[in-house]
Amino acid sequence: MRIAILSRNKNLYSTRRLKEAGKARGHDMLVINPLRCYMNIASYKPTVHFNGEAIDNLDAVIPRIGASITFYGTAVVRQFEMMGVFSLNESVAISRSRDKLRSMQLLSRRGIGLPVTGFASSPDDTDDLLNLVGGAPVVVKLLQGTQGKGVVLAETRKAAESVIDAFRGLSAHFLVQEFVKEAGGADIRCFVIGDKVVAAMRRQAPEGEFRSNLHRGGAAEVVKITPEERATAVRAARIVGLNVSGVDILRSKNGPVVIEVNSSPGLEGIEQASGKDVAGLIIQYIEKNAQAGRTRTKGRG
Ligand code: ADP
Ligand code: MG
Repeated sequence: MRIAILSRNKNLYSTRRLKEAGKARGHDMLVINPLRCYMNIASYKPTVHFNGEAIDNLDAVIPRIGASITFYGTAVVRQFEMMGVFSLNESVAISRSRDKLRSMQLLSRRGIGLPVTGFASSPDDTDDLLNLVGGAPVVVKLLQGTQGKGVVLAETRKAAESVIDAFRGLSAHFLVQEFVKEAGGADIRCFVIGDKVVAAMRRQAPEGEFRSNLHRGGAAEVVKITPEERATAVRAARIVGLNVSGVDILRSKNGPVVIEVNSSPGLEGIEQASGKDVAGLIIQYIEKNAQAGRTRTKGRG
């Protein structure tokens, strides 16, 4: 097969591993910077171009779209879908996963465990919004934050009000969420491919920090997850519509709660913690599923 990885940096661990794993399984692997793809949105024959040439004969694309380029990146993925190229994750699902509010609303409708979460626009509603999620301590989160940036723990009501005021002053949208204290600064990253959790790791925040992101100095170790956690992760991935995802779960006193579903989960931490060839499993998934025209939403917006 001819498979393109849409990534801005061919030296990133995840990009390198996917390329290697594809080659090892006999595929023709390309790495293409999505920001350098341009497109002709022509009727009948939509095309994508790169460096003066049309990119054709692709069997599949692997989107590794960074959060800072979601808009352009998903447009490129969508254009490939219009051409009938199989995308490992569909553009619609990537967009859903990038908006924490949108994905939580979808998950809540289907009864997935979530931390109590509120969303409001007017400063007049701050007081009741805080009551709604059970009062301080609360976590305030920018809707489009990533790698722990824009996630703040407000330990008192006063602190929460200040953070909320500050975010409003910047015209930023944010969620206010119950702080799951009993998670103890740890979360569980479930790496989901298709309808299976292929690897899971527990990430522990460093001393004095509640965010367990590896980019914030969190430490990862392999973990055995419960059947309930496994089922929750697989269902959450499916509801958001991602074939490959990193579903982050907190162990709360009421059972597993999903805090996030990531559409470009990193491979380095999970491969190192689990010792598994996750990149190889992703390539195998593509081999099984990449028939043209097999995308679930058929490129619908
Ligand atoms: P990001 O997209 O920036 O990674 P997350 O929502 O995943 O944002 O939050 C970052 C980290 O903060 C999580 O991995 C988790 O360790 C911690 N965290 C997030 N929400 C909560 C919460 N409601 N209660 C306790 N810890 C949380
Ligand atoms: Mg996260």
